[in-house]
Amino acid sequence: MLPDFLRPLILSGPSGVGKSTLLQRLFAEYPDKFGFSVSHTTRDPRPGEVDGKQYHFVTVDKFQELIKQGAFIEHAQFSGNFYGTSFQTVREVEKQGRRCILDIEAQGVRQIKATSLNPVYCFISPPTMASLRERLKGRGTETEASVAKRLATALREIEYAKEPAVHDYVIVNDDLDRAYILFKQLALGEKIPTDVLPKLDD
Ligand code: ADP
Ligand code: 5GP
Repeated sequence: MLPDFLRPLILSGPSGVGKSTLLQRLFAEYPDKFGFSVSHTTRDPRPGEVDGKQYHFVTVDKFQELIKQGAFIEHAQFSGNFYGTSFQTVREVEKQGRRCILDIEAQGVRQIKATSLNPVYCFISPPTMASLRERLKGRGTETEASVAKRLATALREIEYAKEPAVHDYVIVNDDLDRAYILFKQLALGEKIPTDVLPKLDD
């Protein structure tokens, strides 16, 4: 079995909770230790997003062709768009000798559990639903309808995270510096105390 440091690390958690923020900090601090699993998506790029860096941006036709070819370890529909992790992206990171980090939603987590990838699973939780709403709105990337859709999906993601043994670790992203220290230790292969999932019924 691979040591924890080399096992892929899966980050999941509701949209807007701060996963990309934590990842950006990690990649800035350790430019050579980790590799991001660049997913394919059919959603439009946000301002500043670069094809091949945050995502491979593709058409629905191309995405469906890739499904038919068996290119994906897992794929899902989220908020009206397709997202998927290709075997190739994970292989490329492994070839570089880096720890592969995936940022995927709950349906993808379920599918990965049926594969031989054997990752460490970490759920990033908001401290409250109100803060999640504020962060999603504050990011300024979503329409009002998209914020509402993502918040509804967030409730399902949180219900799934409550099931026993779905995640190895929970990190509550309340104070960003505190959450980052825990996340960094975990990514470096250290054992961290898992947070308790808040009630999140506000
Ligand atoms: P995700 O990748 O999970 O969808 P982002 O990393 O894009 O989320 O974060 C959503 C917004 O929340 C961003 O504007 C980010 O700056 C902000 N944010 C992230 N972490 C915190 C935090 N601990 N406290 C307050 N705002 C945060
Ligand atoms: P966003 O549109 O905000 O970048 O991502 C929306 C959601 O899709 C997030 O919860 C993110 O974790 C998830 N996601 C990104 N890439 C993948 C992927 O390859 N597979 C799955 N299942 N989810 C993904």
